[in-house]
Amino acid sequence: MLRRIGIEAIEVRRADELAQVDGLILPGGESTTMVKFLTGENLLEPIRQFAGEGKPIFGTCAGAILLAREVTNPPQLSLGLLDVSIERNGYGRQLDSHIAEVATSLAGGAMEAVFIRAPRFTSLAAEVETLASIKGEPVFVRQGKIFAATFHPELTDDERAHRLFIEQALKHQQQSAVPS
Ligand code: GLN
Repeated sequence: MLRRIGIEAIEVRRADELAQVDGLILPGGESTTMVKFLTGENLLEPIRQFAGEGKPIFGTCAGAILLAREVTNPPQLSLGLLDVSIERNGYGRQLDSHIAEVATSLAGGAMEAVFIRAPRFTSLAAEVETLASIKGEPVFVRQGKIFAATFHPELTDDERAHRLFIEQALKHQQQSAVPS
């Protein structure tokens, strides 16, 4: 998706590689495995620092779980950069994986969203803004420069979620550019 919208992307696997990027995407996958990796590679603190420098982070699905302040079902370690509670595998077995149309506050309105063993936000702090929801339940949120979606916006043709995130990354790049 990033390449499609003309953005150069690299995989970040070590803390020093964070210095090469203006924004970070925490992708989907299995959050328990990802926590092990982040802990093993000592990446938790460097990522918190990255956010502390005002650089944007976008967590999708398992990535959203990693960003949350509180994780349930079962509880697990997280970055705590987004003031929400999130429940893993929140749709249970029946709706394990599904595609749904979600309402958004973005230009263009509704969006098709792919949920894969998706988590659910169970509470949001007042500072957390809802960008997309289904039946009134938030599925894409933002707190300052931290974005999180419980679905996989990279699996559809809709570029809006990534574009919104990239806008933030570019804003940071402009702010931090040293005038010559
Ligand atoms: N079920 C996974 C978890 O709890 C998330 C699934 C996904 O990222 N698609 O970590």
